[in-house]
Amino acid sequence: MKKVYSLIFLLLFTGAAFAQKQGIEQAYVDRLIKTLSADDMQGRKTFEPSSEKAADFIAKEFKAIGLKTLPGLSGYKQTFTVNRIKPGTPEVKINDQAVDPGKVFIITDQPGLQWQKSGGAAIDVVSIGAQDSYSQKMGELMKAHKNTLVLINPAHQDIFTKYRNYFGKGNTSLASTAAEQGSLVVVLHETAEPASYQVKVTNQVQTSQISNVVGIIPGKKQKDEKVVFSAHYDHIGILKPVDGDSIANGADDDASGTTAVITLAKHFKKQKAPARSLIFVAFTAEEIGGYGSQYFSKQLDPEKVVAMFNIEMIGKPSKFGKNTAWITGYEKSDFGKILQKNLDGTQFTFHADPYPDQDLFYRSDNATLARLGVPAHSISTDEIDIDKRYHSVDDEYDSLDIANMTQVIRAIAQSASSIVAGKDTPSRVNAAALR
Ligand SMILES: [Zn+2]
Repeated sequence: MKKVYSLIFLLLFTGAAFAQKQGIEQAYVDRLIKTLSADDMQGRKTFEPSSEKAADFIAKEFKAIGLKTLPGLSGYKQTFTVNRIKPGTPEVKINDQAVDPGKVFIITDQPGLQWQKSGGAAIDVVSIGAQDSYSQKMGELMKAHKNTLVLINPAHQDIFTKYRNYFGKGNTSLASTAAEQGSLVVVLHETAEPASYQVKVTNQVQTSQISNVVGIIPGKKQKDEKVVFSAHYDHIGILKPVDGDSIANGADDDASGTTAVITLAKHFKKQKAPARSLIFVAFTAEEIGGYGSQYFSKQLDPEKVVAMFNIEMIGKPSKFGKNTAWITGYEKSDFGKILQKNLDGTQFTFHADPYPDQDLFYRSDNATLARLGVPAHSISTDEIDIDKRYHSVDDEYDSLDIANMTQVIRAIAQSASSIVAGKDTPSRVNAAALR
């Protein structure tokens, strides 16, 4: 008898550690994620009506919770304009010889380009030789945002073709930053230093409006200091059918994180008013380049954001077992240590990202704010190295462990408590040291 009693006591007690996590109930979590990952959401692809449908659902939930809207906005949608560029067929001449358009791709947000050696605009010419690292050099060029003609040694043909297949479909840019961007014209060619060149191309530019969904709980004491809880609601839409299923439901990626953000909003709204202001944001366009978080980051002062909890793929237990999660960029600030300290005495543990080779810190929306110095990290449980469902039609509701996911959300709420209350302030990320 005694053992049973103590067991019951233990269950009650461990339940009690999370009992004050009001609003974080499994049935609620279940309803949200089921809705967001249902087939009628059609994979929530940016620019598709299904993405708008998901945004409307999130806004409706924010309203039901009673979140405030951002100052200056009439609703929860933070709508902005992006330019989608579909490159035309490029006419390129190197040393007066026409280049096969199949050996050219262009990364640009301009309606047209017209370059020639001795022309007006200052164009850099860079070559990537047979011995150079293609990925590293291209990475640097894409970050530099300068008008550049890039000559790729034919030794890199295979990787060149992969890039061409990707960028040939076109690219997207925030309308507000168009002027900051330079264009890259990338040519597979044996010449490293051309005596002359000409580039001419006319591109199709389409302007579209897309939306983040944002709600806030104003802080009581340190109102200006903001804590952001985020996830991306977009996914990758429709893929090639596998066994008759073509919908990439994105249940884990990232309906799970979006569900967490809504549930955390409900939880914190039920608590007494927080010391700091809390911002809950569901980002659009993460999968196609992180445009939602880029726009969001330009609408606020990053110095005033004390922490960002970005939640990515928490639907399945982590490699450390149930009641665990891990944090990307653990060593880049003391955010993770603070979270873990707030979990002391619970059955929950947070770990450092166990997949450093995967570069996950840079692969989600947190990186955009981290580059502005914000202690912005992603919290995840995904076994990304072996997750065969990732970005496939099998990332479905049925594959998730909703009970464990609910616990993860409770743990995030608990782990954030001292930051929300204004008692802990994570150290800033050293933006200069980031890629
Ligand atoms: Zn994701």
